[in-house]
Amino acid sequence: MPALRSECFTESVLWHCDAEAPAVVAAPLPDRADVVVVGGGYAGLAAARRFAEHGRSVVLVEAQAFSTGASTRNGGMVIPELKAGPGALERSYGELGLRLHAAVEEAFDWTEALIATAAIDCHYQRTGQLFLAHNEVARRAVRATAADHLAHGGEVRLVEGDELRQEIGSDRYRTGMVIARTGGLQPARFHAGLLRRCIAAGVQLHEHTRALSIDDEGPAAHAVVTDRGTVRAHQVFLATNATADGLLPALQRRVLPVGSFIIATEVLDPELARSISPRHRMLVDSKNLLFYWRLTPDGRVAFGGRRSLRTTTVAEAADFLYESMLEVHPQLQGVAIDHAWGGEVALTVDRLPHAGSLGRIGYATGCNGSGVSLMPWLGTRMADAMLGEAAAPPFVELRHRPVPLSRLRRFWIPIVGSWFRLQDRRR
Ligand SMILES: Cc1cc2nc3c(=O)[nH]c(=O)nc-3n(C[C@H](O)[C@H](O)[C@H](O)COP(=O)(O)OP(=O)(O)OC[C@H]3O[C@@H](n4cnc5c(N)ncnc54)[C@H](O)[C@@H]3O)c2cc1C
Repeated sequence: MPALRSECFTESVLWHCDAEAPAVVAAPLPDRADVVVVGGGYAGLAAARRFAEHGRSVVLVEAQAFSTGASTRNGGMVIPELKAGPGALERSYGELGLRLHAAVEEAFDWTEALIATAAIDCHYQRTGQLFLAHNEVARRAVRATAADHLAHGGEVRLVEGDELRQEIGSDRYRTGMVIARTGGLQPARFHAGLLRRCIAAGVQLHEHTRALSIDDEGPAAHAVVTDRGTVRAHQVFLATNATADGLLPALQRRVLPVGSFIIATEVLDPELARSISPRHRMLVDSKNLLFYWRLTPDGRVAFGGRRSLRTTTVAEAADFLYESMLEVHPQLQGVAIDHAWGGEVALTVDRLPHAGSLGRIGYATGCNGSGVSLMPWLGTRMADAMLGEAAAPPFVELRHRPVPLSRLRRFWIPIVGSWFRLQDRRR
């Protein structure tokens, strides 16, 4: 079904209309620095700031403009989660599983504290999340996950029947879990805040500068070759997430980039907005190819997801998401969309984030769609660890397996996507 597009509809990111990124003054690339950071999203900016706070000279190179990456175009859901509860993680990874769970909780607290103490004006609100079971199997799984969180002191609540009606204006779902520790922010404003902090800390920022190769020049030196020149540095940190390219093939083999798309409606009548999400929760369903949606600070619905794992266009994705949004919320019939956009998330084989070093190059990647609070925290923690100031985050202890048949991914990814869709359709 073609989406109803308003007269001012554009294929552009809603958040970009309301975020003033600080100007980054173009300068020649220096020959030397203590540290080179590659990638100017949340992880790279946070790491660069941390290296600079420790007195290092830092050069950050970003292939595109600073205001264009995933960190400025996501759903803005600040979610401390690893797709499984603490008990389930413990069963899979032993004591490490509990530390992984504690790490994402710490990342959430760290992000909230950062926004408050650095006064980052990004419309942050502790909204809570409503996680919705899409079928019978998922209902049992959500009940088990809620019990798991409760047994470990989590602030969650199972909601069913009439109680669920007070959480969401949809007949589509029968069971949900309210997770208190979740918030919503305006992602491009949050990114602009991190960028400002880098400028204040003296990080040398270079946008439109793509790192092409990293040459090992002995125990204390790397040469980072970019399309604007070469910088020699003692340490290199890669924060390229889903856009891992040929720069470090070993990393590229371990990350699967997958598209995710969002549509944003026109500004809704306040009554209609309340009928969708009376408590302004961050809404997420349990499908493999999941939907995530929310009210925006200016009163629209932003509805995200993807139809399959195939490559698609923003226009096709918008049509699919619009139809899906009406299936969930028929009260939005006749409401037009103003914006549609997409980006890429980084999947890993075990669906967990990973960090560590490949050779002598540090990295953090694999947000698996949930990196707003995790990736800046991970960047900061990795910087501390690379400087020997603190222990590395527990994600470095996970085995980071290559994606099987990585070179043939374009053949088998659509097949996996079709299998996911089939499973998601089960009642
Ligand atoms: C549509 C969408 C919705 C999402 N919704 C949510 C959400 O609601 N909640 C949530 O928690 N997460 C969400 N995410 C995920 C979240 O956006 C990411 O986890 C987070 O932004 C990752 O930050 P990062 O710094 O690791 O990577 P990015 O922000 O992807 O930054 C990596 C940067 O590296 C640069 N780069 C790559 N290669 C090179 C090179 N060779 N040289 C120089 N630079 C290079 C890229 O240009 C890019 O800017 C969403 C993502 C998308 C795409």
